[in-house]
Amino acid sequence: MTVPLSQMIAVARFVLGKKLRGIKRYPLVLMLEPLFRCNLACGGCGKIQFPASILRRELAPQDCFRAADECGAPIVSIPGGEPLLHSRIDEIVAGLVQRRRFVYLCTNGLKLEESLDKFQPSRFLAFSVHMDGPREEHDRAVCREGTFDIAVNAIKAARRRGFRVTTNSTLFVGVDPQRIRRLFDEMSELGVEGMMVSPGYRYEKAPDQEHFLARNQTRRLFRELLRNPSPRWRFNHTPLFLEFLRGKWELECTPWGNPTYNIFGWQRPCYLLDEEYCQTFRELMETTDWSRYGQSSGNPKCRDCMVHCGYEPSAVAATFGSSRGLLRSAWISLRGFEPIEESVPPESNRSRRSSPHADHALQGPIGLNAPRRATSELVTIETGSLAADRSVGSDLE
Ligand code: SF4
Ligand code: SF4
Repeated sequence: MTVPLSQMIAVARFVLGKKLRGIKRYPLVLMLEPLFRCNLACGGCGKIQFPASILRRELAPQDCFRAADECGAPIVSIPGGEPLLHSRIDEIVAGLVQRRRFVYLCTNGLKLEESLDKFQPSRFLAFSVHMDGPREEHDRAVCREGTFDIAVNAIKAARRRGFRVTTNSTLFVGVDPQRIRRLFDEMSELGVEGMMVSPGYRYEKAPDQEHFLARNQTRRLFRELLRNPSPRWRFNHTPLFLEFLRGKWELECTPWGNPTYNIFGWQRPCYLLDEEYCQTFRELMETTDWSRYGQSSGNPKCRDCMVHCGYEPSAVAATFGSSRGLLRSAWISLRGFEPIEESVPPESNRSRRSSPHADHALQGPIGLNAPRRATSELVTIETGSLAADRSVGSDLE
């Protein structure tokens, strides 16, 4: 099982409750960024390019709790920066766990082992360790040798002490699918609960602009990655999100699904784009022109984005929002992905910028188990689609 049953039930109840009340826009995962400081400087990072005065700032625990209460999402992902550098991260985690939020503390692993004493194992707490590939690829992506081994040792230590551990991997142009499949094997051997994997977002601020994946490149990559998956692999994604990455299920972005709160306030419109800040969650939800975002909006900043902070909530909504989505998810969970033989048409000759990792912090562990085995049989259920509801007006409770 990729996530505890209690988490799956909590998320399902939350989503169904919103649907029963006719609420169309609701948050599933609060992205809580308590600081932007980090002990790495990865080439694809779009989060750490602030002056020192900003990098020194931290959210106080009370600010974090107020944001969690205001937004009400059942899952809280704590990215950064590196959250383990926060002077009061233990208080923040304890307070969120006390509120029965499922917390994913995202870390590059460098300080994880030495920080374990600060935390108590709990079904409400998981460490999400950033792993961008096998040793060589990972160390190159994070621009520091030895990082992979430190992170692996930290995962082993955390597992020994009874903590839930997941991994997150951000993929870029030039990655070898076979090598990433090897990473999945390695992480499975370490006993991680589930793996998250996503294409990197084209951050304008990222130093490396040469390795971001275009949409068709993402689809080709994921078709290879998920071809005949090992039965040992566990993914922290919904089946429909993985199908979306393979180009077999259409989704539109629902950026309100993963609202982001940090030292500046509520970030508009999503975790990846920081166009503006709102003082309250309600203001974010009610005053954002959501029609300006997502691939169908034509917004160039959204053109190649297939990142889970925008599309995993859409996959959850598609799963619970239609019998077709639910059936397709159940079918994939039981029978695995249908093989795809046809190739994805090549990209047009527009320019392709790209870059290494950066979205290690995103979370998608919000529901159903990902497929466990492949099948050579053809799935006959028709591919469906979810068109994001763009109706105007407040959907807040
Ligand atoms: S991508 Fe993550 S680990 Fe790398 S510098 Fe940015 S915040 Fe730190
Ligand atoms: S597609 Fe969605 S998640 Fe991606 S950048 Fe645009 S608004 Fe943000």
